[in-house]
Amino acid sequence: MTASTDASKAEILGALGRVLGAPQKMIPLHEPEFRGNELAYVSDCIETGWVSSVGAFVTRLEKDLGTLFDRPHAVATSTGTAALHVCLLLAGVEPGDHVLLPTLTFVATANAVSYTGAVPHFVDAEPHSLGVDASKLREHLRETARIENGRLLDRATGARIRALVVTHIFGHPADLDVLAELAREFHLVLVEDAAESIGSLYRGEPTGRHGLVSAVSFNGNKVVTTGGGGAILTGSKELGERAKHLTTTARVPHRWGYMHDEVGFNYRLPNLNAALGCAQLERLDDMLRRKRELSASYRAAFATVEGASFLEEPANTTSNYWLNAIVLDEELAAHRDELLDALNAAHYMSRPLWTSMHRLPMFEGCPRMDVSVAESLEARVINIPSSPRLADLSDTADPGSGGAPTA
Ligand SMILES: *Cc1c(COP(=O)(O)O)cnc(C)c1O
Repeated sequence: MTASTDASKAEILGALGRVLGAPQKMIPLHEPEFRGNELAYVSDCIETGWVSSVGAFVTRLEKDLGTLFDRPHAVATSTGTAALHVCLLLAGVEPGDHVLLPTLTFVATANAVSYTGAVPHFVDAEPHSLGVDASKLREHLRETARIENGRLLDRATGARIRALVVTHIFGHPADLDVLAELAREFHLVLVEDAAESIGSLYRGEPTGRHGLVSAVSFNGNKVVTTGGGGAILTGSKELGERAKHLTTTARVPHRWGYMHDEVGFNYRLPNLNAALGCAQLERLDDMLRRKRELSASYRAAFATVEGASFLEEPANTTSNYWLNAIVLDEELAAHRDELLDALNAAHYMSRPLWTSMHRLPMFEGCPRMDVSVAESLEARVINIPSSPRLADLSDTADPGSGGAPTA
């Protein structure tokens, strides 16, 4: 490193020190927090024997999610990936179709497209939300696709481009109004991968309401966890019923008969997991409040840092700040890995952005537009510790040993 990159590295470590202190052991990136009725509700499942795929907590979780996301139909699933898979089927995606999705996302988004037999078609990000760049995508579609009888077709292959999946990276809402308009213009079904954005608001409303269907995740590292799990959200009664049918082995309701009318999936969320989720949702507001406090501390700490900036929520949105992130200046990009080594050595668990989808071996050959912004971001974004409990650190003498023993 040159003198100035050394100085930047020291400033970045200093900023984390102002927020997190000098921990003796690793501060995790995002750890779950069980401070409410989690144990009571899980015990209830064990005492009553209702641990498996149906039960009162599943019903309650689905109702609570419907209220939270302001979508009348919610179906709990075994993972967020399973929810996305079924969302794509509900969107009418068929084998051979193209599905547009960001290259800058977690691998689950692209995997779910592949499960349907469709072709992932990767699009670029914009640097404020890290979400899909609508105007750049519009240019790409004008150049490479055509509309015929209300269908969008890829000019090179003739394949139908059926759907657009958008993500809300780290909980920062993508520009949903603009993306929904783009989807209308090009006859695309809009699907929201809201895996990371529970509790985030776009123009005052929850994410997950713009897509025909949307998917949420309750994996262990997300803001709300069920251990593992997810949900499908939709405003359509018909699609909600179909989501339930497909995720429960497509069994035709009957008092005792086993009639299944198509190939379905066992994507049900067990009652045991739903119990955890119900207790977590009771505490969502508190977790969101403390996560916002933590991001405000980071924002203040990084305000004076040369060489890196704190990634703030986009205008007109309220992010859940699932994962806090800093973005290195271009000059520091080449030193990202040294910085990651230094941050982790100082016990601030830090991670780079995911490897872009178009660079993974199984997706290398897939169609894509120019993705230079995503590539630049991939080289410069670093996630830093984001658990809600870290907002309580200023009250504890030794930050390294404070909080839950799950670290
Ligand atoms: C976590 C995540 C998923 C998948 O969720 P799982 O519950 O882990 O299957 C999908 N998309 C994005 C963007 C995610 O972050």
